[in-house]
Amino acid sequence: MAENKDEVVVIGGGLVGSLAACLLAKRGYKVQLYEKRKDIRKNTLHTGKSINLALSNRARRALKIVDLEEDVLASTVHMKGRYIHEISGNDYFLPYDPVHKQNLYSINRNRLNSLLLTASEDKFNAEIFFEYELVNADLKKGILRFRNLQSHEIIEKTSKLIIGADGAHSSLRNVIQQQQRFSFSQKYIEHGYVELIIKPNKGKLLDMNAFHLWPRRTFLMIAIPNPDSSFTVTLFMSFDKFEKLHNSKLYLEFFEENFPDAINLLGINQIIEELPLKKPRYLVSIYCYPYHFEDKFVLIGDAAHAMVPFYGQGMNAGFEDCTILNQLLDLYNDDFAKVIENFTKVRNEDARSICDLAMYNYKEMSNYTLNKSFRLRKSLDEFLYSFMPDIWIPLYVSVTFSDMKYTKCIENKQWQDNIIRRMLWIVAFAKEHLHKDLNFWELIVSRDKAKFNMIGNDRIPYVRRPPLQELNTPYIQKTVGHGGSWISVWS
Ligand code: FAD
Repeated sequence: MAENKDEVVVIGGGLVGSLAACLLAKRGYKVQLYEKRKDIRKNTLHTGKSINLALSNRARRALKIVDLEEDVLASTVHMKGRYIHEISGNDYFLPYDPVHKQNLYSINRNRLNSLLLTASEDKFNAEIFFEYELVNADLKKGILRFRNLQSHEIIEKTSKLIIGADGAHSSLRNVIQQQQRFSFSQKYIEHGYVELIIKPNKGKLLDMNAFHLWPRRTFLMIAIPNPDSSFTVTLFMSFDKFEKLHNSKLYLEFFEENFPDAINLLGINQIIEELPLKKPRYLVSIYCYPYHFEDKFVLIGDAAHAMVPFYGQGMNAGFEDCTILNQLLDLYNDDFAKVIENFTKVRNEDARSICDLAMYNYKEMSNYTLNKSFRLRKSLDEFLYSFMPDIWIPLYVSVTFSDMKYTKCIENKQWQDNIIRRMLWIVAFAKEHLHKDLNFWELIVSRDKAKFNMIGNDRIPYVRRPPLQELNTPYIQKTVGHGGSWISVWS
């Protein structure tokens, strides 16, 4: 651990707040963590959100900084890919990373949170105050007001750096929102979710090392493995549809019609007795700007950028926030004002991108995976990826298994889409015109607008991609003080 530095306050002892506490305490700060819930390590109550989470590269990288990667991975089940369960009873497997065989890791939320809380206290000497809720703050004076939920006493606290990691409904963000020039929007999607469980004896009927998916176009069900061979099942569906299924009979008919193979796995009692009593939970996406206020307050994790869970990136992105803060503290020699100002600059657009991608992935998981064209595109991606693993990186691989900026992941995908579109044009053109004695190869290598117009297209904007060496360089170096040059695929 580094020498003692200033006092830092973290609000919220969820996944991101407890990791931030570890990281800052490791840097030598005197960290005080305030959490409104009781200590989850003494209290087995489920917090409400998903029971387990898929952890991937970005989270692993952050855990490595506090030497917790191995401890965390020891509590996980690895998942090699998606197992798709069609309505017909057909199953097929789509690996996440057919080239490098990288995995996702399923972990219990409470287990991960407990591990981080314990590490922050025992390993890094952070102080945790449970059952203290932030109720108010005076931003100009830098004063936070917490209510002790046992005694109802209000205490005041001030500190050089205040980190709001208090989740999607952040109290700190609510206070900052009242300031001028703070932009905020939230979007509740029409879908909600309920969680079910496949018990260990039935879980053994499924592949333990896979993420199971039942896509049904307008709704979907997933199952994620737990170390005891059970699976946590989540049914995502529109609130309208949940409301229509208001009794046991309707739920059973719904399962018979849409998930016949899952009835045996879940057990009929769970479907007719427990499911109708469950209240679906909502899903929200949060966008705000900036992430900091003056030189003292900064929002991270869901407080800054909550997203729908369909890319499995909410926690991963929140952990990556911690990695970036750490890099900025290094870069600016712990000058908080510069660190948090640059945190907004470095992170805001990127976090928006992953929120958008998460929305998109709902369509991919529920709908596109059923389309032949999607599977064809995926096969083509895999084929090109296997031949050019450093050049042709499929979107899912770049988001999940690399630390490429989320915005770059999207640009990279657009670049690939454009190349494929051009290839298709060329094939279509060849079919139509080769026999007409045109110089086909001349067309392929030419940039000449007139020649493209011969096949009935307006000039296609040049497709750009980041230079290859940019793809795997550390996050901050890519972003700070380095504009990056661009190449055209045709050059
Ligand atoms: P939270 O986990 O919400 O923690 C916030 C903490 O702050 C809580 O402990 C809360 O009690 C505390 N708090 C709130 N208000 C106050 C206050 N006023 N004073 C003091 N304390 C306060 N992400 C993934 O990466 N992979 C996945 O597979 C995945 N699956 C998901 C599935 C579902 C169904 C959902 C809903 C989310 C999923 N996510 C996933 C997203 C992930 O759960 C969140 O991104 C992550 O929990 C964010 O962590 P956080 O610490 O920022 O917020």
